[in-house]
Amino acid sequence: MGRISGTLLGTIVTVGLVATPVHADQTSLAAGLAGLVAPHAGQAKKPVAEGYGGAVATVDLDASKAALSVLKQGGNAMDAAIAGAATLGVTEPYSAGLAGGGFLVYYEAKRGRVVTIDGRETAPAAMTATTFEGIPFADAVTSGLSVGVPGSVAQWDLALRRYGTLSLRQALKPAIDVATKGFVVDQTFVDQTAANAARFADFTSTAALYLPGGQPPAVGSVFRNPDLARTYRELGDRGPSWLYGGKLGQDIVATVKNPPVTPGSPRVVRPGLMELADLRAYRALTPAPTHVRYHGLDVYGMAPPSSGGSTVGEALNILSAAGHVGLHEYLDASRLAFADRNAYVGDPAFVNVPLNELLSAQFGKERACLLTDTALPHPAAPGSPDGSYGPCPPPVTAADPKQQPEGPETTHLVVSDQWGNVAAYNITIEQTGGSGIVVPGRGILLNNELTDFTFGPAPGDPNLPAPGKRPRSSMAPTIVLKHGKPLLAVGSPGGATIITTVLQILVNRFDFGMPLPEALAAPRASQRNIAATQAEPAFIAQYGPDLQARGHVFASTPEIGAATGLEFLSRGKVQAVAEPVRRGGGSALVVRNG
Ligand code: GLU
Repeated sequence: MGRISGTLLGTIVTVGLVATPVHADQTSLAAGLAGLVAPHAGQAKKPVAEGYGGAVATVDLDASKAALSVLKQGGNAMDAAIAGAATLGVTEPYSAGLAGGGFLVYYEAKRGRVVTIDGRETAPAAMTATTFEGIPFADAVTSGLSVGVPGSVAQWDLALRRYGTLSLRQALKPAIDVATKGFVVDQTFVDQTAANAARFADFTSTAALYLPGGQPPAVGSVFRNPDLARTYRELGDRGPSWLYGGKLGQDIVATVKNPPVTPGSPRVVRPGLMELADLRAYRALTPAPTHVRYHGLDVYGMAPPSSGGSTVGEALNILSAAGHVGLHEYLDASRLAFADRNAYVGDPAFVNVPLNELLSAQFGKERACLLTDTALPHPAAPGSPDGSYGPCPPPVTAADPKQQPEGPETTHLVVSDQWGNVAAYNITIEQTGGSGIVVPGRGILLNNELTDFTFGPAPGDPNLPAPGKRPRSSMAPTIVLKHGKPLLAVGSPGGATIITTVLQILVNRFDFGMPLPEALAAPRASQRNIAATQAEPAFIAQYGPDLQARGHVFASTPEIGAATGLEFLSRGKVQAVAEPVRRGGGSALVVRNG
């Protein structure tokens, strides 16, 4: 096989962090936050930054600057993560926003532990297992029916109250500044707008905001969102209950039930089922993180309803048991883990997810014994995570799993601070552009997260809709500890490819010995128990022939994921890493270079 597969485990650097929490003076911090972020025509994004005192990586320079400004003013990693996320809601509005959801994994230095916050959207009380049956996926994508009860604001509020030093109002200030002054439109924003132009034009509110003069805004122009600035300001003043039961919530419910379809548009837009009571009932949750050991490191991830932590974790256990780890093993471990993810993972409040067994080393070993020198036949059948693991089970064949399309783009950010806290945060409104519906006068796009449910009919599927249920996610914010201290954090957008992107970066880093920037930039392939492995052209060119000779089949796809990560180097030096090329490249910043 190619160069990568023969490389052995790389050196793992040690971390020396002092976990002394210091709380910022909130008044001076808040006063300092306004006015820090300005449009920056000509300022270049850099994908890698190394230094001290805290670090940030996001897909976007304004968001990275917003998070960095909070760190520089003495805020901690949680404050900066929320400020960065709110700013991404301005500059990456098709991927993130307050009407969406997300998953956050956090290393709390003070207690030396990893915690998570689940801000996943929920199904309204009126939704049932049959709600999506018979509805074409493409119709559900642009509809009120797919809008989940937004979780981001409850998540921000809980995150700040429990782990931050800022109030919600203070954390929203940098985002308000960017929404007011504007950001410089880049090619990615134009491309994403153009790709959505047909459906954006079908809603009066969306066309007015994102298609000024009937066209996507021009590259280099300054894009302002004064409605969103007002929404954030009022949210800061009134608090989360303004959304979860108050006037903002009423506006969202009214829009979901009666989307503002452009007169004369031929689009049939299904209304949604959300009521104010659904918003009132929403709670962010704090499940224990998933955990596996890999090469002596502790890998923490997001528990169900995300399948991120369980699937990355199971695949790592399979690789641990495999002995040799090359790209062939990476692809087949991922195939097996996805077979189990599809069969067993859903919202644990509604289905019995055998999480401990999925993540057990013994189950990983049982699954690993299916690996041979040649690619596993498609499709792999799920295993039996039943607590009883014997000698190698005979290979079982399975019916070809129904592949439901999943949204391709959300976003991920990482932040560390001077005290050693680390945030890995995936935020989303599901597909690029979410439901395509802007709430009139509020400047926010509604999510279409409920399309992450299985549409059915699919008896026994753990991911069928139900009242109040969270749709299964693939988001996989991940934090790796070495000897109890943070070593690395990583995550990506990309729907179900999030899982393979995170897994591949971990394998690149810890099995193939690549430095983190190389591990992120390397060409990607994604095997999710699908017939043909999706792979970037550079991956196929470099590794295709060797892997095809072993029975792997590839389908070319231009780009997979848009990861961000950070790694602690020696003596408290931190390296923040974003994509050099994918999705236009990201932005890494550190508080101090030296
Ligand atoms: N909705 C997706 C999930 O939760 C994330 C959005 C995306 O990256 O497509 O897995």
